[in-house]
Amino acid sequence: MYDYRNEHMYKFIKICEEIINDIVDLKNYDFVLDLSKIKEELGGNSIHLNRETVNALLKAQKELPDNDYRFIISSGYRSYEDQQKLNDLMKKELQKSHPDEWEKLLNDYTGGDDYLKYLRDTDLNKLSRMSHSSGYAVDIIGIKNISTGEELNLGGESKLDNSDRLDYYSKDTEIGKNRKILGDILKNNGFKNIENEYWHWGYYGS
Ligand SMILES: [Zn+2]
Repeated sequence: MYDYRNEHMYKFIKICEEIINDIVDLKNYDFVLDLSKIKEELGGNSIHLNRETVNALLKAQKELPDNDYRFIISSGYRSYEDQQKLNDLMKKELQKSHPDEWEKLLNDYTGGDDYLKYLRDTDLNKLSRMSHSSGYAVDIIGIKNISTGEELNLGGESKLDNSDRLDYYSKDTEIGKNRKILGDILKNNGFKNIENEYWHWGYYGS
């Protein structure tokens, strides 16, 4: 059980961090939010990002091939406590599912315990923009047509293997073609992709 005072303090620190880093709530912007992972992994019900990144995403979204297309966003800014929760959860899951290589997989996907230590010791402004802790990194897991409800297939959930890469599928396949649409537009708008996760993008400015 949470100690009420600790939780109160935690929320207070989080709000301060958000103000300092100009972090805004995506519910006020024209995206589709998928909160399922945030609920499951962090117990949260909102997604935040740095304002500059939001503006760049809105601009990029306008370049999608249909006016009714919206990015489906599943994750954004993570506080230190969020990162700690995610690391603990992934560690438990990977130890069960991949007992021989959990440590390597954990390092690849959350950065593991070393990354937590790094976060504790580093000024937020000096973090890589590829890190969710910076407020500049976003996970885009789909593209949805808000009129028809249809979604462009980007390949869905992480398979924890090479097929998570942006360029894994040939451009002649449906997933390959859709990932190319996503990738080209984001790259043109100042975003860079992390190699092993087609959904993960950091904003570096145009
Ligand atoms: Zn991510």
